[in-house]
Amino acid sequence: MDETGTYICDHCGEEIEVPVDPSAGQDQEYVEDCPVCCAPNLLSVCWDADGRSILSARAE
Ligand SMILES: [Zn+2]
Repeated sequence: MDETGTYICDHCGEEIEVPVDPSAGQDQEYVEDCPVCCAPNLLSVCWDADGRSILSARAE
């Protein structure tokens, strides 16, 4: 299982790499502040059948 993933910040468009924790559940949603522009993104994290992390972000 991937323990890092990337998302595109909904505010500044930068690709952000973040640690993710597969042991915390298969389907997670939490707010993460963008390290580039400091705006909050609501992240959805899940893992596919191959263990690859899939992240999506939308503006909080
Ligand atoms: Zn940003």
